[in-house]
Amino acid sequence: MISPAVSAQDVCFKYQEGTRALDRVNFHADPGEFVAMLASNGSGKTTLIKVLIGLLKPEKGKVVIHGKDLSRIAKKDLFQTVGLVLQNPVDQLFAATVEEDVAYGPRNLGFEEDEVQRRVGEALACVAASELRHRAIHHLSYGEQKRVSMAGVLAMNPSILILDEPTAGLDPAGETLMMRLLNKLNREQGITIILATHNVDLLPLFADRIYVLQRGRVLKQGPSDEIFCEHEMIRDACLRLPYIATLLHKLKQHDGVPIAGLPLTIGEAR
Ligand code: ADP
Repeated sequence: MISPAVSAQDVCFKYQEGTRALDRVNFHADPGEFVAMLASNGSGKTTLIKVLIGLLKPEKGKVVIHGKDLSRIAKKDLFQTVGLVLQNPVDQLFAATVEEDVAYGPRNLGFEEDEVQRRVGEALACVAASELRHRAIHHLSYGEQKRVSMAGVLAMNPSILILDEPTAGLDPAGETLMMRLLNKLNREQGITIILATHNVDLLPLFADRIYVLQRGRVLKQGPSDEIFCEHEMIRDACLRLPYIATLLHKLKQHDGVPIAGLPLTIGEAR
């Protein structure tokens, strides 16, 4: 049996102030899967991400990456296996130019300059930002900053990419571009994608599986067709149905009226 790329097993986490942010959370993403954590604000998404990447130590339970306990993985190996893209790119970018920023990780790992430059070129191409290579970071738009911060992570060649609210703050075109880039990395390069979001509309089109969290617990997990059939659960989680699910639901209520060519499930609409 193949081990999951990442799994959290019975993970509990409490902040010092006493907030229980994660309560017996079980989560996994298989190699090459595109998995979303869907939840309203304050439900524990960011905390779970920090636990998955070892920034926070769970009070109970454990995190396993490719079959190995996270606590036994050397930081240097971890950085080359799991990449974290923070919600706010300003928290991630620190160099003066795009090239310097994206080169920082591979340079720090001691790669030869040729290899560093090759990785910078490839990572920028992956996020459709090759033309930004010589630009100053502080002249970039927010969407460009987001893509460049992702390139810095991709330059480490991770097999798992974890993103906190990757579409937050982007305009609709930027949201679609970001999700298409993630889809491409997932389908073409086999990178396991885990993202946290409360943006329900983009998920049916891209995510293989969705975890719905509420108050630090997993309410339900499954493919989007299953998740978005549970209207009550979605309401309880303070979320809403994606517009496409609402539309298909309404169409299905026209029982017996054939609507040629229209998808009948979210899966068919992908
Ligand atoms: P989400 O990412 O879903 O918005 P978070 O993981 O950020 O949720 O937060 C989960 C809970 O933990 C919330 O109640 C939040 O107030 C609390 N929390 C988050 N960060 C901290 C912190 N550094 N100290 C204390 N409580 C925190």
